Amino acid sequence: AQLINQIAAGEVIERPASVIKELVENSLDAGAHSLRVDLEQGGIKLMRVTDDGGGLGRDDLALAVARHATSKIASLADLEGVATLGFRGEALPSIASVSRFALTSRRDGDAHAWRLACDGSDGTEPPQPAAHGVGTSVEVRDLFYNVPARRKFLRTERTELGHIDQLLTRFALARGDLSLRLTHNGRVSLELPAADAALDPTRLRRLLGEEFLAHALTLDDSAVGLRLHGLVASPAFARSQGDMQFFYVNGRLVRDKLVTHAVRQAFRDVLHHSRHPAFLLFLELPPRQVDVNVHPAKHEVRFRESRQVHDFIFQVLHRRLAAGQR
Ligand code: ADP
Ligand code: MG
Repeated sequence: AQLINQIAAGEVIERPASVIKELVENSLDAGAHSLRVDLEQGGIKLMRVTDDGGGLGRDDLALAVARHATSKIASLADLEGVATLGFRGEALPSIASVSRFALTSRRDGDAHAWRLACDGSDGTEPPQPAAHGVGTSVEVRDLFYNVPARRKFLRTERTELGHIDQLLTRFALARGDLSLRLTHNGRVSLELPAADAALDPTRLRRLLGEEFLAHALTLDDSAVGLRLHGLVASPAFARSQGDMQFFYVNGRLVRDKLVTHAVRQAFRDVLHHSRHPAFLLFLELPPRQVDVNVHPAKHEVRFRESRQVHDFIFQVLHRRLAAGQR
């Protein structure tokens, strides 16, 4: 089972930021409003995500790190199938299989917390009583310590930290009500209180910088069951590519060809230049109109009415950018 977990880990756990992504999503799923992320050496030495969500009881801990569905194992042997299985119920077991891992959690009303530790190769001890507020901490030490081939591909501390920073920025942009504190090697590197409005200017300035806000046009448009709102910078200005491009579909960040094409085309048509467009956009549509589980890393989406979505995005942006020009 360890090998199976490590194979699954290889599909989705590429670097520290991929671990943080899974842990933060779990915290949000658990109803957290406050997150603390502690890192050492760009996350390679230590990642700890602490939340104030609903927590887990003693007997849930082992389940959370076990791969539940034994029926999956036969088909997992087929490497081809792994990617299409998605990542449901596989994140924690996968992460635990390639790190020194501990899960500490306490539910509201419990007298104390419980902690379950497991070492990638050695399996799990029974849960021990522990001190912790209501909520959950997941601790991941020495990522890939038992998978040298993967460890080799980790980059410098700064590069890995940069990836985590970008990732947390994406979550924070999508969730204005989330408070977030990031420390690296014991020093606070991001401190973000919760805000009332999703597009709170102070928060946006902190996350995206003064320059973006100074150039930003707001937009909010609806048609045919679709809504697009957010900010576009005009004229587009150059930071490094991808830095300032945030597109969310029903609250989930996507990097999607169709979306990118529609956005770029609008910028190109109106602004006549090829600098990188900068935007923070939220597309909302009925959930059944979109499949967000195309790939386990969940960055791609498939729209049922893709032509309609493309044209809607293009037209809304085109109109707004053209109006901003005048
Ligand atoms: P999935 O999120 O797809 O269910 P995971 O492996 O990521 O699978 O997590 C396994 C289970 O562990 C979750 O379904 C949840 O019950 C529990 N869990 C993980 N992280 C947390 C957390 N931060 N707070 C509460 N429960 C959690
Ligand atoms: Mg999960």
